[in-house]
Amino acid sequence: MTPSTEMSRPRALSRYHRRRNFRRTPEPRGRSDDPGGREPVFVVQLHDASTLHYDFRLEADGVLKSWAVPKGPSDDPGEKRFAAPTEDHPLAYRTFEGVIPEGQYGAGTVIVWDEGRYRNLSTDKQGREMPLGEALAGGHASFRLEGSKLRGAWSLTRIRDGGDGEREAWLLVRQGHHTRHAGRGRDPRRARSVRTGHTLGQTRREAS
Ligand code: MN
Repeated sequence: MTPSTEMSRPRALSRYHRRRNFRRTPEPRGRSDDPGGREPVFVVQLHDASTLHYDFRLEADGVLKSWAVPKGPSDDPGEKRFAAPTEDHPLAYRTFEGVIPEGQYGAGTVIVWDEGRYRNLSTDKQGREMPLGEALAGGHASFRLEGSKLRGAWSLTRIRDGGDGEREAWLLVRQGHHTRHAGRGRDPRRARSVRTGHTLGQTRREAS
């Protein structure tokens, strides 16, 4: 770990920390010194907040780079899924499930919809491998997800840079061909946590 990386990590989580009252929310405060060195992880959380959405998170540079994806990832390469970037989350967030209380940022129920490792497939124009954080900074990254529900390659592409008061926007798109999973039912109200097997409703009831 380089000194510059260590210094950038706490700042990377400052928005995450500023938005939350850790005396009220059960979410992890998160540390900025989670050891790296293993294969990087991804997680997709289903979040029943003011609007139901999926939170797609990829480990890069010691944090979870995060996007809110209203419809969730698709297995169909023809379905481009809108993804709005949100603040970096601590790596510890990858196991978070439970209920964020009323009045707190992101109030509502969270389950881990899918999780696993990923392999970075991002390359530069010469075809050389590019670190994921660098690829994201450049506005395009691709990666192979090895989860329970999501298996295969996806890409994230920035389509609006967030200038001129517009909100930054990305597209999450499946790469390659349809898989046998394409088109399967994905009613989020019936979806189950890959950690507990519980639905959003069951998770909410257990917390009360
Ligand atoms: Mn969310």
